[in-house]
Amino acid sequence: MRWTAEHQALRESVHTFVDREINPYADQWEEEGIFPAHQVFKAAGKQGLLGITKPEAYGGSGLDFSFTVVMAEALARSKSSGVALAIGVQTDMCTPALSVYGSEELKRDFLAPSVAGDLVGCIGVSEAGGGSDVAALKTYARRVGDDYVINGHKMWITNGVQADWMCALVNTSEGQPHRNKSLIIIPMDTKGVQVEKKLDKMGMRASDTAVIHFDEVKVPQRFLIGEREGEGFKQQMSQFQDERLWGAANAVAIMEEALRMTVEYAQQRYTFGQPLIANQVIQHRLAELSTEVQALKALTYRAVELHMELGGMDMSVVRLASMAKLKAGRLSRELLDVCVQFHGGMGYVTESLINRLYRDVRVISIGGGADEVMLGLIAKQEGFVPLRKERHS
Ligand SMILES: Cc1cc2nc3c(=O)[nH]c(=O)nc-3n(C[C@H](O)[C@H](O)[C@H](O)COP(=O)(O)OP(=O)(O)OC[C@H]3O[C@@H](n4cnc5c(N)ncnc54)[C@H](O)[C@@H]3O)c2cc1C
Repeated sequence: MRWTAEHQALRESVHTFVDREINPYADQWEEEGIFPAHQVFKAAGKQGLLGITKPEAYGGSGLDFSFTVVMAEALARSKSSGVALAIGVQTDMCTPALSVYGSEELKRDFLAPSVAGDLVGCIGVSEAGGGSDVAALKTYARRVGDDYVINGHKMWITNGVQADWMCALVNTSEGQPHRNKSLIIIPMDTKGVQVEKKLDKMGMRASDTAVIHFDEVKVPQRFLIGEREGEGFKQQMSQFQDERLWGAANAVAIMEEALRMTVEYAQQRYTFGQPLIANQVIQHRLAELSTEVQALKALTYRAVELHMELGGMDMSVVRLASMAKLKAGRLSRELLDVCVQFHGGMGYVTESLINRLYRDVRVISIGGGADEVMLGLIAKQEGFVPLRKERHS
């Protein structure tokens, strides 16, 4: 990756935004289990932070994916990872497919106002019956006249309580589960959309996560993303690569920050007449983890370079993005556990930031495709599969 003054300017701009719009209120929002998404997104939109890779025609900056990495990293400065996640959903999880495949009209009505921070979006893939097996989802959109009529539900939807629209993956026909799905925009104020409840979570507490039901929800057929039905599974698989790379980059920066906080604490905390950091066992553990974080960072950057070159549909991107996502989940759990340990009792109390991060990162191994799903994708790409059986007559 080649970093320029433009990248540095973006990093500083995001830091200013986090210091001004998020950190002074982070504790309060974590306590309340929600943050004012419209207010925060409007401020981010005004600062040009919600459309850095989106086309200029829709209010974006038209920059490449390396700038997404900078933003995801810089957002790790947030004392609430939940708010950072909510912003990531808006910029890199619910809008990539709309931006690439959506019609002019859809982009004008949903992408441009989302880039401006006037609308809050969410991504609806998972359902209570199962999130890992995306192909098995049940929500159905049937064609009636010029409309779709949608029935079903979505579960664990980030921004779901406050969202104005959802990019929903639904079935639009019977048949082969990878070819019967479509991404459809559902305005959340449509009759029949019901937010059943806000889920109470162990981490990412300021980010609202919802269960949402659809009962005979009517949306025009022009709200389909793409030119024809049946492309949704592929479009979502591509959109997942943006999400996973955003997640890996954000996790790397969270881990760097956790290490920095732990070193600072271990330098100031004395036991047995010397600072904690003077213990070689602590130095070596931190050095080992720091090495792993840098290895993950290099892997993530390589995946991002490939993404910029080949796009999210390319299987070599899927291979490295899955590896980065897997390693981000596993390493962040291990690293935050060590950081909590070296903070002692302060690490165990929920008021400490290191404790918050420990709880927050746990989701990385579950959301956006669990570790085991990543392992399945990697195994397939690496060719770790049985040999095809010869036919014996
Ligand atoms: C905080 C949070 C925010 C989220 N935000 C969103 C969102 O905005 N939009 C959205 O659509 N979804 C969202 N999700 C849902 C998330 O993507 C799913 O939880 C995830 O995909 C796992 O699905 P599941 O929970 O149904 O687990 P299941 O599919 O029931 O799997 C349970 C566990 O079994 C294991 N497992 C699954 N399959 C296999 C296998 N084949 N082999 C071995 N082990 C396996 C995994 O460890 C997995 O964690 C969010 C989840 C959380 C917790």
